[in-house]
Amino acid sequence: MVVDENKPKYQDMDLLLFQEQFKTEKDCYQWIFKTRWPKGFNCPFCGHQKYSLVSTRMLYKCLKCGKQISVTAGTIFHKTKTPLLKWFWLIFRMATSKTGVSVAEMQRELEIRDYKTIWTMAHKIRKAMADRDAQYKLAGLVELDESFFGPASEGKRGRGAKDKGLVIVAVSFWVDDKGKEHPGFAHAFVVENASAETIESVLIRLGLPEEEIVPLIDIIRTDGWRSYQTASTDLGIIHYRAVIRDPKDSMKLLPWTHRIIANAKSVFKGPHRGVSKKHLQRYLSEVCYRFNRRFWPKESFHRLLRACVSTSTIIRDDLMS
Ligand SMILES: [Zn+2]
Repeated sequence: MVVDENKPKYQDMDLLLFQEQFKTEKDCYQWIFKTRWPKGFNCPFCGHQKYSLVSTRMLYKCLKCGKQISVTAGTIFHKTKTPLLKWFWLIFRMATSKTGVSVAEMQRELEIRDYKTIWTMAHKIRKAMADRDAQYKLAGLVELDESFFGPASEGKRGRGAKDKGLVIVAVSFWVDDKGKEHPGFAHAFVVENASAETIESVLIRLGLPEEEIVPLIDIIRTDGWRSYQTASTDLGIIHYRAVIRDPKDSMKLLPWTHRIIANAKSVFKGPHRGVSKKHLQRYLSEVCYRFNRRFWPKESFHRLLRACVSTSTIIRDDLMS
């Protein structure tokens, strides 16, 4: 077995441990410092390892080239005016909640005056979740289905659904030695339509990278919509059609995509009180991120915090435009 030294070791953390470890702003800054520079400070401009601390905002001045480096540069916390302790608490709540947290509730809890501030913070955390999941491809058998999300979000492949978002959900499976299927990883993408061309591009993004000689996805299982047939033929993968005679049986035939779709819809109606088409992708990324880490509930905070430190951020203008 090859041990990857760079692979982070995730720490179990519950509420009590969180409160013990993060009491002050300095605790948070020091945590980011240690995560970014586990072997000590390393100037990104010249590689020098000695520094002086120039302010309480944890600005590090390289003693060789003189450049000042913010420990939060290149993280979702960059240039934030909100205390890191509030950020860390929001990340803890978003990471450990099973269904997602209400931004209005968090605004009260963290005593943040401007709703837009906390709303933007939550979206930056969702972006970190999406970036982390984008690194994972699907392999083997993949179940696919689509659904409309939005007002009166019933039905599929309807026409004239301008305010609704069409979403393709994909779940990979692994099969144990007794032939039993187990769900692995899930992704969900907002798409413009359910054409063969769209489905092909989704499949390529999921696990058929063009440069790969051997595709990661071997088989897709769907309800048999013709676009899936065309896409699988074009890409040279096997297509299983789960035949649904009675719509009530769809849950049995494509159980995991349906479970994720149903879960997302109930979360969007609950804590988020409706999700607009514009921001739908980030909310879906949150649902998938949570599903994909369902086996590591105790590590969830540490995993998400690391994702927030290693991701590029989005600014509020990107969200509002
Ligand atoms: Zn330097």
